[in-house]
Amino acid sequence: MIFLLSFLKGFFMRIIVDQTLCCGHAACVKICPENAISLIAGKATIDASKCTVDGLCIPACPHGAIEYDDDYAGGVGCGF
Ligand code: SF4
Repeated sequence: MIFLLSFLKGFFMRIIVDQTLCCGHAACVKICPENAISLIAGKATIDASKCTVDGLCIPACPHGAIEYDDDYAGGVGCGF
């Protein structure tokens, strides 16, 4: 059941990194239990295939560079 809820959350929500705010501090890399974040060219990059959207990395970032993508709906639009 938990896996199903996690899967559905990942389908309808996602986490994004504002590359302009990311300083490569890497606190997010250390806190991610899924090893979904890596530094590429000094910037945090999230592997969406690993991310469970638990949000642990959001408060870990000292610059507020990580957040939920409010505009993402898993590619499922409402039709308007
Ligand atoms: S939301 Fe959770 S699983 Fe996804 S990148 Fe952040 S810490 Fe890792």
